[in-house]
Amino acid sequence: MSATPQEIVLAEPRGFCAGVDRAIEIVERALARFGAPIYVRHEIVHNTYVVNDLKSKGAIFIEDLDDVPPGATLVFSAHGVSKAVQDEARARGFQVFDATCPLVTKVHMEVAKLAREGYEFIMIGHKGHPEVEGTMGQLESGIHLVEDVADVAGVRPGQTDKLAVVTQTTLSVDDAAAIMAAVRERFPQIRQPKQQDICYATQNRQDAVKVMSPQVDVVIVVGSPTSSNSNRLAELARKLGVASYMVDRADELQAEWLAGKARIGLTAGASAPEVLVNEVIDRIKALGAVAVRRLEGAEETMKFPLPKGLKA
Ligand code: SF4
Repeated sequence: MSATPQEIVLAEPRGFCAGVDRAIEIVERALARFGAPIYVRHEIVHNTYVVNDLKSKGAIFIEDLDDVPPGATLVFSAHGVSKAVQDEARARGFQVFDATCPLVTKVHMEVAKLAREGYEFIMIGHKGHPEVEGTMGQLESGIHLVEDVADVAGVRPGQTDKLAVVTQTTLSVDDAAAIMAAVRERFPQIRQPKQQDICYATQNRQDAVKVMSPQVDVVIVVGSPTSSNSNRLAELARKLGVASYMVDRADELQAEWLAGKARIGLTAGASAPEVLVNEVIDRIKALGAVAVRRLEGAEETMKFPLPKGLKA
C-alpha cells in the first residue's frame, strides 16, 4: 500500500448545474442593474463560498421578509418558496426576481395543476429542507411528506382515488426508488410524474460517483454541510464501500484521511464552484499526488433563461 496519495481521479460531471448558474447570475445581474443592497431570501444556493462572495458584492441574505425594507429588490433562492412567501412579497410591494430552479418550478406547477383536479400528494423529501417547504407550501393542505420507507405506512390521505407522488429534486436516486416502490405497493393506483422529479444534475453527479468509486481508495466531495445533493454524493460513495469525506474548503481536508490511499476520488455538489475543486486539487498535490485523471461522463448542455427584467 502506498503511503501517500499518487493520483487524483476527477468525477465528470461535477459542480455547478444549470439551476445554480442561473440563480447566481440573477443575483449578480440584479446587483449590477439596481445596485446594492439586493435582498436574497435564504442562501441563494447552499454553498458558503458562493454566499460570502455575493455578500461581499452587496447581497443581504434574510430568512424573514420582515427584514426587507419597503421598496427593496428581493430574490428568491434556487430552492423555491411557498405560496405564502410569494403572496407576502407581492403584498409588500418588493421588486421580486425568482431564482427558483425551473426544475423545481415544474414540480410546483404539477402540484398546482393536479390539486385543481382534486389530487392529494405524497412528497418524498427531507423534512425542513427549503425546497420541501416551498413545494409543500404550494398548497394549504393535502401534501403528506415521507422521508423513508418506514414513513410510508403512516401516511393517512383523506382519499386514495386521486393521489399523486412528487419528490425533492436532489434525493438519492436509489433511496428514492426504494421509497417510491413502497409508496406504489401501498397505493398501487398512485399517479407518478411522467419524468422523475429528481433532476438531471443530481442523477448525473450520482452516476459519476458510481463510475468513480470502484477506481479509488477514498472519495472527497466538495460541498457545504447544508447542501442536500453534496451529502448524497458522500453517502453514495460510502454505500459503495469507499470512505468519503465532505469539505467546504481545501483547508478542511485532513491529511490522515488520505494516509495510505493512493487514488483519491474528487467530486463536487451542484452548488460548489470549480474554484474550490481546484483549491482541493492543489492541497492533495501538496500532500503528494502527482497526477490528475479526468473520467468520462455525461455531457451537460442544459441552460435556463433568466427572468424578464434581467436579460441582457
Ligand atoms: Fe435545479 Fe437540479 Fe441544480 Fe437543484 S440541483 S438547482 S433542481 S438543476
